[in-house]
Amino acid sequence: MSDTAMASLGNADAVDRARAGARSLRRLTVAERVKYLTNLRAIVLRRREEIIDRIQKDTGKSRSDALISEIFGVLDNLAWLEKNAPRYLKERKVHTPIALMGKTSWLWFEPLGTILIISPWNYPFYQAMVPIAVALVTGNTVVYKPSEWTPLEGLIEDLMAEAQAPPNWVVVAYGDGKVGADLIDRKPDKIMFTGSTRTGRKILQQAAQYMIPVDLELGGKDPMIVFEDVDIQRAAAGAAWGGLTTTGQSCTSVERIYVQESIYDAFKAALVKEVERMKQSVDSDGDADIGAMTTDFQVKIVAKQVEDARAKGAQILTGTGWDGVSRLIPPMVVDQMRDDMLLLKEETFGPVLPLLKFRTEDEVIRLANDSEYGLTASVWSKDLDRARRVSRALVTGGVSINNVMATEANPALPFGGTKNSGLGRYKGEHGLHAFCNIKSVLVDKDSAKIEANWYPYTKEKYRIFTEMMVNLFSGGVVNFVKFGLSGMKLESYSKKASKKGRG
Ligand code: NAD
Repeated sequence: MSDTAMASLGNADAVDRARAGARSLRRLTVAERVKYLTNLRAIVLRRREEIIDRIQKDTGKSRSDALISEIFGVLDNLAWLEKNAPRYLKERKVHTPIALMGKTSWLWFEPLGTILIISPWNYPFYQAMVPIAVALVTGNTVVYKPSEWTPLEGLIEDLMAEAQAPPNWVVVAYGDGKVGADLIDRKPDKIMFTGSTRTGRKILQQAAQYMIPVDLELGGKDPMIVFEDVDIQRAAAGAAWGGLTTTGQSCTSVERIYVQESIYDAFKAALVKEVERMKQSVDSDGDADIGAMTTDFQVKIVAKQVEDARAKGAQILTGTGWDGVSRLIPPMVVDQMRDDMLLLKEETFGPVLPLLKFRTEDEVIRLANDSEYGLTASVWSKDLDRARRVSRALVTGGVSINNVMATEANPALPFGGTKNSGLGRYKGEHGLHAFCNIKSVLVDKDSAKIEANWYPYTKEKYRIFTEMMVNLFSGGVVNFVKFGLSGMKLESYSKKASKKGRG
């Protein structure tokens, strides 16, 4: 049997197999690990069309969506990691305070061991490759559990084998949520979960029993805030892409569009025009804007939310011909929204663009923050001071100013949410460190010296220590000189006291 087939054989011992690979990976320097990422980048670049075929087969997304969000995204993150991981994972000297004179302090970024990566179905290639690459470069082996809806069966193992990675560095475990839960019971050293808030909560509870650290990248209901001074055409084009890329099945999709009253009608007309000229199919040549939905259960959620909105008085301005069943849901611009509609309360995860009107800055901040989610947002205004002010007031993990879904496009920016959108950050320097045991190290070269804080504790030591502390923290040059003198006194007393003992 080939190593590749071995790597995906059964799930029961997947964590054990990945753990067995941890020692060989851990021994490598970061530069040596980076070579596997470089191999992967070349392989993905060369085999891109075949990979896009596989992504389209499992997801039904448009070919350009697969190219731009998945293939380009993976290549960009690999290139960033190759260039930056050695710098961010290098041991680092940090400041040592004067009270610890003669010592040096360090941070070492060490692997955690084996990381369980559990992924959703909306970006099956990107959500596999990017966390796997971060894990490998930080020296961790991986158990990867893809979504049962989009397994890309055999592809990840195949790419890893071609990149010369030993089969127990990345072990793929196929199956549903039950398989994911069983893998957690095998006590991996960390769980990186991307998926729904409902499942995230279950994973957090299960992991708590074993004290396994967890990163949760969950759902969103991301607002786009459009002030009256914007270029309306550009903002409408941004809204269309941000709401409809991957047929709206992105965690950071634009799901609520707040438009300032004075430009509301003009923006609505521009957005409708933009949406009406879009081409929709599961194409084979890149000539379609949006593709299909990936699963029937998500189609049902969209149908329920749209029906609820319609029943409560919303006006559907585009895509009115949808039968409520087809996976090719036409993009829908929705007007006349009301607060109690499901379209505003729950994550939609489909090609729906609800439009809402606001008057003032304060009002829109309140409306945008009025959500159980807090993943990302976008703020559009020519007045950058205002855009920054509003961005600061938003309770989200990221904000794009005058752009949309742009923070996740930069591999240097950490990614993650607030509130029910998740815990922790991945990508960027913070994301690299999130996959590390950050070991704090203090080196004392003077092994002969007795420390002032060691025993014996005596009345006299108490007095001198207090004098030294008051001088150190009272500020000013004179006190600093006095601190030096009392420090010497304390040192010499400690030496004597330790020889003499308590009596
Ligand atoms: P999901 O929660 O249903 O499933 C995600 C993964 O978890 C799948 O692999 C599934 O098999 C597994 N799983 C299910 N139950 C489990 C359990 N009890 N224990 C362990 N694993 C279990 O999510 P989904 O429907 O696949 O994905 C859509 C959701 O993902 C949306 O809410 C979307 O917003 C979110 N998402 C978030 C991000 C982000 O980075 N924040 C990115 C993409 C998608």
